[in-house]
Amino acid sequence: METPDQNPIPRLGRLDEYLDWHAARRPTEAAAEENVCGVDWASLRTLVDATAAALQECRIQSGQRVAFMGPPGLSYWITFLACQRAGGVWVGLNPQYTARELTHVLTDSKPALVLAAGASAAISDPANLQSACQSLGLGPVQLGDSIDEIADRIGITSTVPRSADSVARSLGESGVALVVYTSGSTGAPKGALITQTGLIENGWWLARRLGLNPHRTLANLPVNHIGCVGDVCSTALISGGALVFMPKFDPRAAVEVIRDRQVEWIPQVPAQFQLMVDRGGLGAEDLGQVRCITWGGAPMPRGLIKKLSGWVPDLFNSYGLTECSGTIALTQPGDGLDVLADTVGAPVAPGLVAVTDEAGRPCAQDECGEIRIRGKHLFHGYLDNPSATRQTLTEDGWLRTGDLGAMDGHGNLRLLGRTHEMFKSGGYNVYPREIESVIEDLPEVSLCAVVSVPDDLWQEVGVAVVQADPSRVSPQDIETHCRQFLARYKVPKRFVVRNELPLLPVGKVDKSRLTDEVQKIDDAT
Ligand code: AMP
Repeated sequence: METPDQNPIPRLGRLDEYLDWHAARRPTEAAAEENVCGVDWASLRTLVDATAAALQECRIQSGQRVAFMGPPGLSYWITFLACQRAGGVWVGLNPQYTARELTHVLTDSKPALVLAAGASAAISDPANLQSACQSLGLGPVQLGDSIDEIADRIGITSTVPRSADSVARSLGESGVALVVYTSGSTGAPKGALITQTGLIENGWWLARRLGLNPHRTLANLPVNHIGCVGDVCSTALISGGALVFMPKFDPRAAVEVIRDRQVEWIPQVPAQFQLMVDRGGLGAEDLGQVRCITWGGAPMPRGLIKKLSGWVPDLFNSYGLTECSGTIALTQPGDGLDVLADTVGAPVAPGLVAVTDEAGRPCAQDECGEIRIRGKHLFHGYLDNPSATRQTLTEDGWLRTGDLGAMDGHGNLRLLGRTHEMFKSGGYNVYPREIESVIEDLPEVSLCAVVSVPDDLWQEVGVAVVQADPSRVSPQDIETHCRQFLARYKVPKRFVVRNELPLLPVGKVDKSRLTDEVQKIDDAT
């Protein structure tokens, strides 16, 4: 493995320029693989060029959105890069989306073209995509199952591309590369506009700070998440590494892929590592060639950190969020258990992070404040949502993360809470208001409050406390309703039906009392 200094990574202007850079310098080295199918850098460039030409034949113009539904695999990566080549803006659709979630993302992003991976893809219900596209007047293009078919088949489309509008022109001029849907505290997911510059900045710093260049990376995060497109795939692209795709996460299969495909970097959320240890039989013997493990999105339990640190040379806790294109703080190689468990490390680049009071004034060392971020990592705003953008980006260019933290004497950041109510379940953001409004759609329900409680595996899980007549609606009815309208990770793990919820004097549900009550019941059982 080369060090960054033996092979300095250039700062290029566009993501697809990195494809050309590595195709020229390492044409026969592995660029990406999925099961037994692999491509080297020269073939990846050929496939991307053919697919980009097909997109242009479909009259995709600068800034127009191209949506893709499929698992993390070659067709995802080729269409993403081709879209960048053709000047389009890519939108990842999670195959686990329900019809309601899918319709929201498609309605909001208004794609000119919708693509779906072939029949073998882990799409939970293909009918959802068909009906959502039909209701919006779009026809999905089915990509072939083998990569040879992809570039050919992409030309077969029943979609009539929309002509470029003023939104497309402004996205094109601003260098927007993709839209990532991230839920807001008001419920409806917002489209964060991630730029080429943000992805390059993130991948460039991450590749240097991890010191893996080039490397073989496990890629099994969902394609609609910044962790997949930003941290994992863009970092591998920029540093010339190979992506080892796993279309579907399964703890046992993941252990086999890591061992048999000689994976060197494993970036995952903590729950995936826990499942690989608990149910996949992960042990030191599977990790012989692994140079580093990174996790983000949620803290990792101490016991798990201890176990993994005995097996792998370098462990890193990484902190970031969608709106800053990936990772903005990272622990250092060799950091001990306390730093890995209690902090998220130091900012990846100088001047990137501040901890401030409500007025934006810097906090003292160890003083709790809101974490704010500025610089090239930042997103361009939310698609068609200037008021949400104004609430998140200050006039002087800082991103308000909504995370509370403090900087310690070693320059490491401690996360202390959130300014809003979001909780993390298995690395996913869950916004109680989104779930509450789905449950309140039931005619028998008058009020609902979702609170989070700690969970050994998923870090936090939701409990829905519902105000309704228990003789008219059961916890099972509510759960069935949730499963119909919410992605699996958002469905609360427990439902309690009550005649009344405790209220604050202002009439809002007293969530802290409710959390205590739910916690007491949990402690007693
Ligand atoms: P997302 O936009 O989905 O990437 O979620 C970002 C949020 O996840 C942050 O605002 C934090 O609240 C949380 N988060 C990210 N990384 C970590 C971490 N390493 N430890 C704990 N929480 C994290």
